[in-house]
Amino acid sequence: MPMTLLALHAHPDDESSKGAATISRYAASGVRCVLVTATGGEAGDILNPAMDRPEIAANLKAVREAELAEAAAIQGYDEVILLGYRDSGMPDSSDNADPRAFCNQPVDDVLARLVGIVREVRPHVVIGYDDHEFYPHPDHLRIHEMSLLVFDAAADANRFPELGEPWEIKKMYAPTMFAHDRIHALHEAMLERTGSSPYERWIEMIETRPIVERDVTRIDVTGYVEQSRAALRAHRTQIDPDGHWFQVPTEVIEEIYPWEDFELMASRVGWNTDEDDLFAGIDDAA
Ligand SMILES: [Zn+2]
Repeated sequence: MPMTLLALHAHPDDESSKGAATISRYAASGVRCVLVTATGGEAGDILNPAMDRPEIAANLKAVREAELAEAAAIQGYDEVILLGYRDSGMPDSSDNADPRAFCNQPVDDVLARLVGIVREVRPHVVIGYDDHEFYPHPDHLRIHEMSLLVFDAAADANRFPELGEPWEIKKMYAPTMFAHDRIHALHEAMLERTGSSPYERWIEMIETRPIVERDVTRIDVTGYVEQSRAALRAHRTQIDPDGHWFQVPTEVIEEIYPWEDFELMASRVGWNTDEDDLFAGIDDAA
């Protein structure tokens, strides 16, 4: 049975901006990769001036769904499952009050759907979310909460017995972009090479907010960074190809910090963050 990875994300484009090169690396090595996206991203703005046109704004949900399909294919996902909830927008917005919004669904209803998916897909590793100090979008916080709940519930024969045989996820991780080492290393490399750095604001954030620096598991993504950036660019409504995210050349990333960072959130195979493989310690006979 192949190793399987299931990634839970909130909006179309999150799968391409958080840990995307890691997915490509595992997909290339034969791991079956399945993506679950909770919402359609309907509440998002169009962030690329070239795509800010009325016919696109009027069809944003369908446009973002097509972008997601393209990005997932570029990354190497085997399957994409859309939960179909509505984007919850930011607190106090009308999107946030919409009864179809992801954040307004009963926790047990969402959990039942995720437990059903986990018992069918049978992932060894799940990518969920941490509690997002830098970007507390209600949908991201919801994914954080749900990913912890599904880790326990999918394995519990007493929960949702009608949804199939219990399945034990072995490890759950959250991708993180905010490891201080990474931000400092890329910031300094860019200053040295070009005299300016797109990480200026991030440096300010990590210095002014009381952020807990967590242990991370580093996954070497050498050779997969460009693929992840192509996936991100497929989200044309969300990503300006001339924007600051693309100022840092792929060669610089691969030379200075060729890793993606993951925080271990839950484990049934011991608690070791000093590994170089998300599947380390998992017996493939399972
Ligand atoms: Zn998001």
